[in-house]
Amino acid sequence: MIDTHAHIDLPAFDEDRAEVLQRARQSGVEAVIMPAISPDGFAKARQIAAEYSGVYRAVGIHPHAAAQADVRALAAVEQEVTMPNVVAIGEIGLDYYYTTIAEPAVQQNVFREQIWIAKRCNLPIIVHNRDAHTDVLRLLEEEQDGTLNGVLHCFSGDEKYLQRALALGFCVSFTGNITYQRNALVALLPQVPEDRLVLETDSPYMTPRPYRGKRNEPAFVSFVAAKIAEVTGRTLEQVVQSTTRVARSLFRLTSMLWLLAVPAFPQEASGSGKHLYAKSFGVGVHGATNTIVELRRFATGEDQTFSYEGLPALGVHLFYEFHDYVGAELAYWYSRNTKVLKTPQRPWGQDNPDIYQAVELCAHLTPNPYGRVNFYATLGMAALLNRINERAENKVAFVTGVGLRFNVRTSFGMLMPWMEWRLDFAVGQERRRVLLSLTEQRDADVTFYLSLPRIGLLWFPPW
Ligand SMILES: [Zn+2]
Ligand SMILES: [Zn+2]
Repeated sequence: MIDTHAHIDLPAFDEDRAEVLQRARQSGVEAVIMPAISPDGFAKARQIAAEYSGVYRAVGIHPHAAAQADVRALAAVEQEVTMPNVVAIGEIGLDYYYTTIAEPAVQQNVFREQIWIAKRCNLPIIVHNRDAHTDVLRLLEEEQDGTLNGVLHCFSGDEKYLQRALALGFCVSFTGNITYQRNALVALLPQVPEDRLVLETDSPYMTPRPYRGKRNEPAFVSFVAAKIAEVTGRTLEQVVQSTTRVARSLFRLTSMLWLLAVPAFPQEASGSGKHLYAKSFGVGVHGATNTIVELRRFATGEDQTFSYEGLPALGVHLFYEFHDYVGAELAYWYSRNTKVLKTPQRPWGQDNPDIYQAVELCAHLTPNPYGRVNFYATLGMAALLNRINERAENKVAFVTGVGLRFNVRTSFGMLMPWMEWRLDFAVGQERRRVLLSLTEQRDADVTFYLSLPRIGLLWFPPW
């Protein structure tokens, strides 16, 4: 089941949000969509959607907050669309029940502006309507150009209104009020095609029987589903399946749900640019195996690729995240190539090992900084301060890499274990005498790159 409308960001859930979502999951709710009231609540909603898997957001300005919906607030809505887990614009609409909120003309403007945002961002809308049927329909009909879709939530109205809403291509959802005795809406249920019906609770409001009078929560969406099954003559299983399918496709959840299969992936963002895993300054160490791949060109014009494999390398790091998506890393590492030493098998080897060491300055680019697990790519430069056969060989290298890092919050700061496959490509070539066999040495122009699979740990103290 998918609860397409639950205000679980409200203070009513501050005490026990984790338990509420746990109960929802246990009763078969795979996803909850959390609509917004006003931009004031965005930061908190962002944090909640990040902290709990299966929680998605709608962003918008509720008609109750329409009086504050100035240009800046509308811009904030449009901006928020880029945040993770935002699947709709909502809830937006008209509410003529209360006389203390913005007057109808103002509400209509705000509603229309947000319909335009939805069209620009290609998102469905979640429509709130109370005692404003005529104007809601008029606006939707004026704005329907074939690109607009969404749901009329907490549906109320008569048969004619329902038919016009369906003709517009909209879905509808009913709350716990259909479980109340003698509710006229029940008669409309059989007229809603299966592919236009989704479930919602409107938690913490509209609690279904038998919990009427108590706080509503997403787990209770099953009572709404059961009532729909009872009235329409479908099985509960059919109702659950069809409403889940419709909600997934309307809010395009299928493409996002696969992410839940990776348990550590759920996004954990928080508001105001400082996310839950903001990194500040960190220090760390790493271990790697260094494979030196030499590309040799002999005077005869022949080429040879030769590698020294698996030399241990050790490094130290400084890290600073100066932007959510970009961090800077300064690293130093050291590795010795003892495979060039003289042995009975290598009588023409060297007395001292080759030393490879580098100072790397790199950017970490991550597409999902708010996740507990970040994928990242590394791009940067290194100064290679090598000693090859007793001779200093200083070079510049291009650095690239791909990695995975894990954000682990502890009481003593954040720990970040990471693994990365890094490649340092030396620029330019050097002439060296290389050993080909027991009996043969030749001069070759050598260029090389270093392949460095690494694992490391960074510590970000709570400064
Ligand atoms: Zn509403
Ligand atoms: Zn609502």
